[in-house]
Amino acid sequence: MFGLKADWSLEVFDRYFSLGDYAGGEARWCPGCGDHAVLTAVQRIMRDEQLKPEMSVAVSGIGCSSRLPHYMGTYGFHGLHGRALPIACGVKSRRPDLDVWVATGDGDCFSIGTAHWIHAMRYNMDMTVLIFDNAVYGLTKKQTSPTSPLGLKTNTHPFGAIIEPHNPLTVTLGITNISFIAQVVDWNPPLLYETIKAAHRHRGTSFVRIIQRCPVYARAYYEALQDNPSGQLLLTHEKGIPMDKTVRRLFPEQQEHDPTDLSSAFAVAADRSRIPVGLLYHNPDAPCYEDLSSEGIAMTPEEKLAGFNAALDRMTI
Ligand code: SF4
Ligand code: MG
Repeated sequence: MFGLKADWSLEVFDRYFSLGDYAGGEARWCPGCGDHAVLTAVQRIMRDEQLKPEMSVAVSGIGCSSRLPHYMGTYGFHGLHGRALPIACGVKSRRPDLDVWVATGDGDCFSIGTAHWIHAMRYNMDMTVLIFDNAVYGLTKKQTSPTSPLGLKTNTHPFGAIIEPHNPLTVTLGITNISFIAQVVDWNPPLLYETIKAAHRHRGTSFVRIIQRCPVYARAYYEALQDNPSGQLLLTHEKGIPMDKTVRRLFPEQQEHDPTDLSSAFAVAADRSRIPVGLLYHNPDAPCYEDLSSEGIAMTPEEKLAGFNAALDRMTI
């Protein structure tokens, strides 16, 4: 298909998509890796929402989680380290009609990609950003990451991480024009599904930090988290993530939290005694950058030339 988009059209008949329509290559993550649960949740949501694979794009940076586009039956872009978000913003700015999913990790997003993370959150372009936070660099075989817990022994800190980990939630909550911030654990499939579904339905940048098991390089850390449900705080509210009684029963610690209350979201995120799980913040009215910047995107070359000449004429002395 060549030429300008305005010169051609593609007729795609309505059809029912099954799970297989969203499957790409065979996932090669380690057995027991939390990434498998996220991939399954995303594919099920796409099937249940009947999203068109040809209108969906999975974008990633570098890391274990950034393999995700290879495992999706959608378009995909496996980018450079830390560059998932600017690539996704680029896709969205030229093709706002596409459904953009971003897979990035704690090293990819919170270290080398930090500047992109800050600015992409402010742009609030309509995309679903999944941060697979396994608290370690997995692909490069166990180095300390920005979210490694104090004392985690890695190849770069063989006696244990020596400084408190970054708090991605408080940082993100402090960025101008944020619109959706949630956190979830990979080992609760119903809650993972509902959280990602709510994130996808939100119009704007949905930031979902997924506490993701890496049984190869941080097994003891994740086993301790899983074995201590009291270490997680389930955020409940009628405006929050929908969940039924069976999910609620798994969390002894719960708190009613209104996700429109930014100050309360900060307080919840800053309390490191428990891992908050649920929707921390939601502002459906935050403006999306593509709505402001895509004006004239469908102009013909003649219209562009005429506009260019008119702009030059205005500068004529
Ligand atoms: Fe998953 Fe860890 Fe294996 Fe990477 S190294 S695929 S994060 S279990
Ligand atoms: Mg990581």
